[in-house]
Amino acid sequence: MSDLVLRLKSIEKSYNAGKPNEIAVLRGASAQIATGEIVALVAPSGAGKSTLLHMAGLLDTPDTGTVEIAGQDLSKARDRARTAARRRDIGFVYQFHHLLPEFTAAENIILPQLADGIAQPAAAERAQELLEKVGLAARADHRPSELSGGEQQRVAFCRSLANAPKLLLADEPTGNLDPGTSDQVFDALMALVRETGMGALIATHNFDLAARMDRVIRLEDGVLQAGLPR
Ligand code: ADP
Repeated sequence: MSDLVLRLKSIEKSYNAGKPNEIAVLRGASAQIATGEIVALVAPSGAGKSTLLHMAGLLDTPDTGTVEIAGQDLSKARDRARTAARRRDIGFVYQFHHLLPEFTAAENIILPQLADGIAQPAAAERAQELLEKVGLAARADHRPSELSGGEQQRVAFCRSLANAPKLLLADEPTGNLDPGTSDQVFDALMALVRETGMGALIATHNFDLAARMDRVIRLEDGVLQAGLPR
């Protein structure tokens, strides 16, 4: 098995193909992420960051090029195989936490595990373990409305890692938080990812956060290049 958790090869993607308003967003974007590696993705707004993350997360398909998750080319696989790989191998974190308001922090982390066939006691134990790792063990029975923004986002990280995915994709995971909280919450995310040994691609506008990751790639003119913009 490959130790690459994500490999994007020459991804091209246009919207409104063949129409006067056609826009070529990705023009041969390539990147790879190894197990245990945390990579920052920086791009100006509108450059195609969400488009790229959707391809990597198997939520959309490229026009040409391939997307491999943990060594398996899934770009042309059937929907069932893509959905299975997405549930098994990929965790997502968004700018907004998207926790279910009527459930507690622990339940929000238990539910995706039950959907994946894990038994309730094991799922509950894993939820508690994850909450402990982000310093929220005492908040397990609180609903999202009883948690601060930073706490909500830490619970969302735990949920995204509940099923032990190989790849974490995050779109501005601390973008909604004030700078002090953002730093703390980012540290919690880094520690969790490090401990699980997964690979992560984390989009951020914050160059300081980007510089703290293992490597930075930037999306410019539809291709991916190494390093922060000058
Ligand atoms: P970013 O996340 O970097 O802000 P996006 O990936 O959302 O950028 O969008 C890149 C470009 O593609 C933008 O110009 C956007 O307007 C366009 N775009 C995104 N999704 C669609 C769509 N479904 N149909 C047409 N154009 C789109």
